[in-house]
Amino acid sequence: MKLSRRRFIKYSGILGGTTALSGSGLLSLKSLTPTEAEAVEKAMKGYEIKYTADAMCPAECGHEMWIKDGKIAKIYGNKAVPMNDGSACAKGASGQQLVYSPYRLKHPMLRVGERGEGRFRRISWDEAIDYIAKKLTKIKKKYGPESVIMDCGDVTDRTQYYRLFFAYGTPHCCEHGAICDTPRRHGPKLILGGKRIEPDLMRPQLVRQPDGSLKKNYEYKTKLIIYNGWNPFVATRIFYESRGTVGAQVENGCKVIVVDPALSNTASKADMWLSPRAGTDGDLFAAMLRYILENDNPGDKNRRYIDWNMKKFVVGWDEFMNEFKSWWKKKDPINGMSYYSLDWAANRTGLPKSEIKEVAHLFGITKPAALIWGMQSPGHHYNGYSCSIIGTVLNVITGNFDAPGGAIDTELVKASKGGSAKGKKFLKRKVKRTINGKVVEGKQKELHMDLYGSKYPAAWDDAVADFPNAFEEGVELRYGPFRGHRYPIKAYLLRTGNSVVTGSAPWRWEETITAKDSSGNYKLDLMVFIDTLNLESALYADIILPEASYAERMSLSDIYPSHQMIYNRDAVIKPLYECKTPTDIMLLLSKKLYDLGDRDIDPKEFWKKYRNEEDFTNEMLTPAPGRPHVGTPLPYPKYPEGYKLIGTPDSLEKGDVKIDHEKKKVIGKPVTVAWLRKNNGVAIWPMSWQRYKKHDANEPNKAFPKTSTKMIEFIWDFEQGGKRKGQYSRYNKLIEEAGGDTPEGLKEIGFRKFAKTFFWFETKWNP
Ligand code: SF4
Repeated sequence: MKLSRRRFIKYSGILGGTTALSGSGLLSLKSLTPTEAEAVEKAMKGYEIKYTADAMCPAECGHEMWIKDGKIAKIYGNKAVPMNDGSACAKGASGQQLVYSPYRLKHPMLRVGERGEGRFRRISWDEAIDYIAKKLTKIKKKYGPESVIMDCGDVTDRTQYYRLFFAYGTPHCCEHGAICDTPRRHGPKLILGGKRIEPDLMRPQLVRQPDGSLKKNYEYKTKLIIYNGWNPFVATRIFYESRGTVGAQVENGCKVIVVDPALSNTASKADMWLSPRAGTDGDLFAAMLRYILENDNPGDKNRRYIDWNMKKFVVGWDEFMNEFKSWWKKKDPINGMSYYSLDWAANRTGLPKSEIKEVAHLFGITKPAALIWGMQSPGHHYNGYSCSIIGTVLNVITGNFDAPGGAIDTELVKASKGGSAKGKKFLKRKVKRTINGKVVEGKQKELHMDLYGSKYPAAWDDAVADFPNAFEEGVELRYGPFRGHRYPIKAYLLRTGNSVVTGSAPWRWEETITAKDSSGNYKLDLMVFIDTLNLESALYADIILPEASYAERMSLSDIYPSHQMIYNRDAVIKPLYECKTPTDIMLLLSKKLYDLGDRDIDPKEFWKKYRNEEDFTNEMLTPAPGRPHVGTPLPYPKYPEGYKLIGTPDSLEKGDVKIDHEKKKVIGKPVTVAWLRKNNGVAIWPMSWQRYKKHDANEPNKAFPKTSTKMIEFIWDFEQGGKRKGQYSRYNKLIEEAGGDTPEGLKEIGFRKFAKTFFWFETKWNP
């Protein structure tokens, strides 16, 4: 859009409104003075301002790009997006260097040498799509679609590829998260149905006031943050954490404790730095929990650690606590000490006993506080399972979970997006396979190599097995209806990833991608590389497809905000060279597969449905925000509590809605790309806390959290009302149905099935 006078007033209003709306806001961008506003107006003349989301790193900050003559002239942070609150780092502000890089992939290429040699020739899109579609058709006929992996690497805007490949028939669509921070996510997933716990630091927050108005709140409430294996000043995608940590320190006197074997940048600015032995994070957390349980005294204000009110909102606390305490009587065979005692933890972590005691006491007594564990050790070490379970428990029992200034599970509050565009419905299709001469029927998703065939128990909680082994040995399903089904992996499509360099054991990737059969053919029939940049893995591809850069394609940001908001990644310029958007690639490939006879591809689900990227993105926005109307303050006091909210913030605010009492939904006007463009690229819904407190054991919460009981669960496999419940129930059922065939990983730690409640194991192996 051109910057009209009216538009400018609105824009400067956003900037200028900050002071009026803020609390202290010392570390937030402030309003413009009239002189500054005048200067901005002058500077903006002749530019078209477009709002988008960065992708120069996974923080995906909200940006505004100033466009002149169809080119990106300037890049600034988008002040309307609370994720980055108007800021942009040097890398983000240099986005033109990527977009206009002469070294970009510019046109499709076909390998003419051996894999890895790097010899290619330029081909047309027609030739490239024809080559890929013919291979995929052949593989599907001979081995089944499950022999194809679509790996979407570590950049967002992948929904189109998921849709296409789910429709094609494979359950194997993944991205880097599949092999990333599984242990870190495990505790929140098990206990809350969530994923990642972050401190309540995203500012500004849109908060409903007692008089019914909405106000942007800049105040920090957090008094203590413990970052374990987490370095927000440098290395996280939670952009608001670096700003918010300093904000809470400076404006609110918040204390910061960093637990990290290395003196990270964040540790160097912390009030206290604990340097334990790597991989002993769970030991430290277990000792903190024991200390808090042993020393809690509701009658002593210096020992009031536990918020016993929590018992109303959880299931299985007594079982968890009893099992946890039963370990205190046991002696650790390694050091002969009582499990989780301060002496035990000092011996195992290498930390002084006094430091462990101090950190446990501080966390117990300081409220609001947030205990956060990150990627470094808990994210990737097997000990991270215990660490994330106990960490989640500590946040809940101290009353910090989902409290203002406390710890928020971003997965549970972020706006829904994707919806039917993801194509997950294709995973429910009934498919047949012949196993040992018998025809069996199941759902497409039950052909999944990890969820139904893996060696690793972690695979049942989002992780994906090591691909090189699958390339080499193929897959044997061990659980579900297709038990005993074997298939090879014959195609690997890698988009925005560089597994040959960044995958674990990189040499194995090289080895298995280039492995040949006795006839001299590559065992992996097809390897495709799709990206904007030419990375090392491209050298091994049969076909290279140049994808439009983040500034040339449209989608939605995919980050972890601590309250509901959504912002788009708009296509601010046209794709350069011969690059194509993910939507274009999806449509071209789906059409070609159909033309080659693939009737799993329905034209009405692809090229007859989506005319352009905007159609696709609008479908992704359909479920937004999709979160339950619960918490304090209630986001919209005029609507029934517990209903699902759908629609633009302004339609919900105005009451321009339909209320479906049967489905318990409040439905306003749909969020669309056009709406986002008119509203600085972002939709923000009001913040609320303590969402789980609406209901208690007598009136189970129907909305939050996302566990099977809708309560906070400290017990994960149990019978209730004749039904099996809890997060491990489904996994244990699969093990039972497979005749007690325990995944190797579980066997290795001495388990026959997943534990009913608290469990502890010595780390024997690392996934
Ligand atoms: S921190 Fe934000 S501005 Fe900087 S590269 Fe990452 S997404 Fe871009």
